[in-house]
Amino acid sequence: MPTDLYCVFGNPIGHSKSPKIHALFAAQTAQDMRYEARLAPLDGFAATVARFIADGGRGANVTVPFKEEAFRLATQRTPRAEAAGAVNTLSFTDGQIVGDNTDGAGLVRDLKHNLGCNPAGRRILLLGAGGAARGVILPLLLEQPARLVIANRTAEKAVRLVQEFARLPACAISIKPESCGFDALTNLTKERFDLVINATSTGLTNTVLPTSTSLFAPGCVAYEMLYGRETPFMEQARSVLDVRVADGLGMLVEQAAEAFFVWRGVRPNTQAALIALAALAELHQ
Ligand code: NDP
Repeated sequence: MPTDLYCVFGNPIGHSKSPKIHALFAAQTAQDMRYEARLAPLDGFAATVARFIADGGRGANVTVPFKEEAFRLATQRTPRAEAAGAVNTLSFTDGQIVGDNTDGAGLVRDLKHNLGCNPAGRRILLLGAGGAARGVILPLLLEQPARLVIANRTAEKAVRLVQEFARLPACAISIKPESCGFDALTNLTKERFDLVINATSTGLTNTVLPTSTSLFAPGCVAYEMLYGRETPFMEQARSVLDVRVADGLGMLVEQAAEAFFVWRGVRPNTQAALIALAALAELHQ
């Protein structure tokens, strides 16, 4: 039997940690599989996927900037992909392209299993209303938080997101999410949150968010979705006593583990993979 083939599509793709993560998972669980990084041209995503399927590809991850295109390409979509409006995991079976989204499940698993931060009953502030924010809203709501406020620079985008998710049946979620613009954030002087998630891309440009340190409740977890660098959001949170700060590496590994589970039906040990990745990073410093 030939080795099963998987890959991650993106542009650029050279920086991706996914091949390393999946190689660790495959070794751990003794799965006979190969996982590559494949660069897709900006105007040739569908053709690149078709070639990969013709090469015998069994599944793929999708990263920037193709998650929405992957959503449109999928012939079947899971409910969490539908809610996210984006696909980061594709499975190729019986002539179908099944689209899934494991980003939100990855965040929730990182919070609960690696950081000991159960979203249930917590007051959550989600900063940002782009693709990453959209992908985590349903998984967070399903954890039954006490409150979920979505704040975005362009307030209308946050309002639109909240309107979409407010239509979910009351049996699935206990609260309706709220929205505001960043200008309103500065007026929230009496509000406190137990979990503040930065899902904006401001870490990439070192932009300081208009968040006040008073937003962090004692014992709060400040979660930066970006990984691999200290961001202004993390610096601000670290200046507050009794706030725990985490970056998005755990989310990256957990969303990969969820994709691995979708494809192979086996759940890898993510703690071991995180330790191995940290050791590799130190080696290359
Ligand atoms: P998008 O481009 O879809 O969204 C960007 C978001 O950032 C929008 O809400 C945008 O606001 C906001 N933003 C951008 N610039 C500024 C600024 N100067 N000031 C205030 N807000 C700003 O990006 P994604 O949602 O795909 O990614 C967001 C972050 O999440 C990135 O850092 C990415 O690396 C990370 N990520 C991490 C993952 C992981 O596994 N750890 C997985 C996916 C993403 P507006 O709407 O007003 O433009």
